Amino acid sequence: MKQGESWEHAPTIKGFNKLVEAAERTDKVYENKFLLYLAGELGFRSGEIAHIKLSWFNFDEGVIYIPPHEPCNCAYCSYCAKKRTKNPNLTPQEVRNIYWQPKTDAGRRVVPYKLKDDVPEVLERVIKKYGRYPRVVKTSEYNIHRLVKLAGGIQSAFGKNIYLHGLRAYAVTQYAYADFSLWDICNVMGWKDIKTASKYLARLGVNAKKMNKKKDDNKTDFLFNEPSRLLTLNKTQKQETCKELSFEENVWLNRFIKD
Ligand SMILES: [Zn+2]
Repeated sequence: MKQGESWEHAPTIKGFNKLVEAAERTDKVYENKFLLYLAGELGFRSGEIAHIKLSWFNFDEGVIYIPPHEPCNCAYCSYCAKKRTKNPNLTPQEVRNIYWQPKTDAGRRVVPYKLKDDVPEVLERVIKKYGRYPRVVKTSEYNIHRLVKLAGGIQSAFGKNIYLHGLRAYAVTQYAYADFSLWDICNVMGWKDIKTASKYLARLGVNAKKMNKKKDDNKTDFLFNEPSRLLTLNKTQKQETCKELSFEENVWLNRFIKD
C-alpha cells in the first residue's frame, strides 16, 4: 500500500487541517480526531496507536509514556512475534511475553501532548471513555483513507496519496514549528539518531522548495514556503546535524539554525 518514503506522503498544513475538518463531519468526531492527532500531531506509529492504553497517560504532567513492553496477543502482535522469532507455532502466552513492543528500543519514550489547544481535550476524552484506541490497526489506515476522501481527495506536497505513516512525517514538521530541537524531535519520535530527523526535515523542505519553483501559482499548498522556525544548536550539534546532508540540503537546513 505504501509507496516511497513516508515524508512523501505527509499532508501539507492546509491538508491536515482539512482532514481535521473532515473528521468533524463524521459520526465519530472524537475517535477520528484521536487518530489524526496521535499520528499527525504527536508522531505515533500505527502499532503504538493500536496499543495505547489509559495507563500510558499522565494527565497531570501532560505526557504519554510508551513502554518497552505491553503483553498482547492480538492478530498484529501474533504476526510480528512469529516473524521476529521465525517460529510460526508460538502459543498466545509466548506471544504475550514478547509483544506488544515498540519498533525500536528508542521507541520507548515520553511524548508531551499538551502542545496544541484541541489535542489534550480529544486525547483525554477518548482514552477516558474507551481506555484504548477503539479500533484495530487495519481500520486505522482505512479510516485515514476515508477522511482523505471526505476532505476532497487531498494529496501530499509531492502529489502523493496521504497514508497513516505520512502523518507521522507531518508530525516531525509540527515539532519543528513548535521549536523542538532536532535532539528533542529524535526523542519524541523514537529515533535513535539525529540523522533520521534531519533527513526528514531536509527532504520535506528542500523538495517542497523545488516544487514551489515549478508551481508558483499554488504556493500555499506546500509545507515550507518560508522558514518560520529556528533551531538552537551548538557548534558540535550543528556539525553532527549537517554532516550527512548534501550541499543543497545543508544550505536549506542552515537557514533554520540560530548560531
Ligand atoms: Zn497487540
